[in-house]
Parts: sequence; structure tokens; C-alpha cells
Amino acid sequence: MINVFFCARPERWDMYHPALTRAFAALDLDVNLTRDPDPETVDYIVYAPNGPVSDFTPFTRTKAVLSLWAGVETIVGNPTLTQPLCRMVDAGLEEGMVEWVTGHVLRHHLGMDAQILNQSGIWSPKVPPLARNRTVAVLGLGALGQACAQALSALRFNVIGWSRSAKKVDGLACFHGPDGLHSALQQAEIIVLLLPHTPETENVINAETLALMPKGAVIINPGRGALIDDEALLTALDSGQIGHATLDVFRQEPLPAAHPYWAHPGVTVTPHIASETRAETAAEVIAENIRRGEAGTPFLFLVDRDKGY
Ligand code: NAP
Repeated sequence: MINVFFCARPERWDMYHPALTRAFAALDLDVNLTRDPDPETVDYIVYAPNGPVSDFTPFTRTKAVLSLWAGVETIVGNPTLTQPLCRMVDAGLEEGMVEWVTGHVLRHHLGMDAQILNQSGIWSPKVPPLARNRTVAVLGLGALGQACAQALSALRFNVIGWSRSAKKVDGLACFHGPDGLHSALQQAEIIVLLLPHTPETENVINAETLALMPKGAVIINPGRGALIDDEALLTALDSGQIGHATLDVFRQEPLPAAHPYWAHPGVTVTPHIASETRAETAAEVIAENIRRGEAGTPFLFLVDRDKGY
């Protein structure tokens, strides 16, 4: 019997319990899935950063912590976590992110606000350019960034991507490293942030990098709030250097009601809903990692603790 601790918010249990039970059965895993275990008996922890555990010391025989979240910035530096940590790469999460990013890119590309917000009776035709004449930069070419970049590329946007290590991705011009960031931003009319929050990516969008973008560029951030220097972004919005920012994630969530982003006409706030892990597909990933742990084969999506993602 494999003991699995479901360590997430209680309201997630009704959704995940049946999905995980099905996924374990599909792989012939004999699992005792519980929310209230004796820590010393736990083999695997299915973990959400907003769940009940932050001290992993009592989990002496745990073989891996399997995150339900793609972003692991709040747990990766936890000194009590000595077990392997796997992040979530989930087909459902990816699909949701592709849909959200594509929708918000198209909003700005097509200038939809001009029609939706201005039904004034004045006939003023302005045909949007073709996607092929619009450059979109996707910062972060991991599971989510690559999926979004490829979907945008399929719509014929001129997509460029940026990552830490050098990459080749079909249909994209790829840049990497600090110099590559400058080249990518100088061309980008729409920038999509799908980087993890690490010490290196914090404030990657700051006064200096904002100034590199073409005047009126749009920023779309479904990555993490700390990627952006908020003061610098507000200044760039006020000066017109940045035309609009669509922000899904923030340093403080929920975003406080008094935060200037809520009232700024150049900002669209969405409440961290770009995408979420979907129980049905995520359960299959969790089950596969437990199968691997039991078979002694390498885990999928292992977090590199030094890199922080
Ligand atoms: P991932 O697969 O780990 O990919 C991360 C990408 O960022 C990689 O391409 C990586 O480069 C790049 N990167 C990391 N540090 C960098 C640096 N210093 N300079 C340049 N590039 C750097 O992550 P993912 O699954 O795509 O998820 C990305 C992020 O999306 C998550 O960390 C999370 O914060 C966010 N997210 C948000 C939501 C939401 O609803 N808003 C939902 C899920 C996830 P390499 O390829 O060279 O390693």
C-alpha cells in the first residue's frame, strides 16, 4: 500500500479525490489517499502551496512532493523540504493558458476595445493589421510559454521567444540570456510574460527594459507579479511608453482595492484566472510520477532547486 497525503485546500478534495482514484487505478497503483495522515507513514505528498503544510520535517519517509501548481517559488527555497520536488505540467493547465493568452493578444492586436467600449454612433473604420505584421514576444519558453508561442505562431503572428538557455522552436525566432532579452524587447509590440519567479527574473520588466520596447507596446502578464517593477510600469503607462498592461498576477493577491492598477485606464486586472491545474489531467501526471517513484525511475518535471524552477 502506498500512502499519499492530499495536502491542498479542503475544498479541492471533492474534485481531486475521484480524479486521483481513477488515475491510480488506471496504473494499478494500490494507494491509500488521505487528508489526515500520520506524517511518518507518508510516501508521497500531493501538494498545493496554499495548503496546510509548510514544515516537511516530520515526513521522514516521503519519497517526493508532487506540486499541483506550475509555479513553485514559495516552496523551492523551503529548508525543511529535502525530498525531490516535482512541479505540475498539465495538459489542461496548458490548454487554458493558451486560450487566455491568445484571447488577450487578439484583443490588443485587433484593437477590440475601440469597438466594444465605443458604440458612439460615429462610423470610423480602421481595419486591423494582419497578425503576420505584428511581433509578439513570449518571455519564458517552458511548457506554457512554448505552447502559447506555437498557438500564436499558428495564427501567423511574428513570434519571438526568450529563455534562459538557447532553444530551437519551430516557427519562432529564439533569444536567450540578458543580451537576447534586449533584442527581443526592442522588436516586440506585445509581450507575454510566462517566466517563473526566481531571484533572476524578479523585476525583469523595469524602467530600463520598458524603455527598450517600441512606444505603445502592450504587456500581458500571466506569469508572476514579481516579474514587473510596478512603479516603473505605472510610470511607463502614464507616459504612453506602454499602451496597455493586462495583468493576471500580482505581488500581493488578492490585489488590494486601493492599488493604482485597479483604477488605471491603461490596465486590465484579471484575478489570477489565466489558467489553473485541471484535476482530471493533473491526476494522471501525479499517478505517473508515483509509478515512477515506486519503479525507481526518474521523476517527471523535477524542480532544479538551484535554478529555482
Ligand atoms: P517552465 O516550463 O519551468 O518554463 C520556464 C521558462 O522560463 C523556461 O523557458 C526558462 O528557460 C525560462 N526562464 C527561467 N528563468 C529565466 C531567466 N533567468 N532568464 C530567461 N528565461 C528564464 O514553466 P511553465 O510551466 O511554462 O510556467 C511558467 C510560469 O507560469 C510558472 O512558473 C508560473 O509562475 C506561471 N503560471 C501562471 C498561471 C496563472 O494562472 N496565471 C498558471 C500556471 C503557471 P529555460 O527553458 O532555459 O529553462
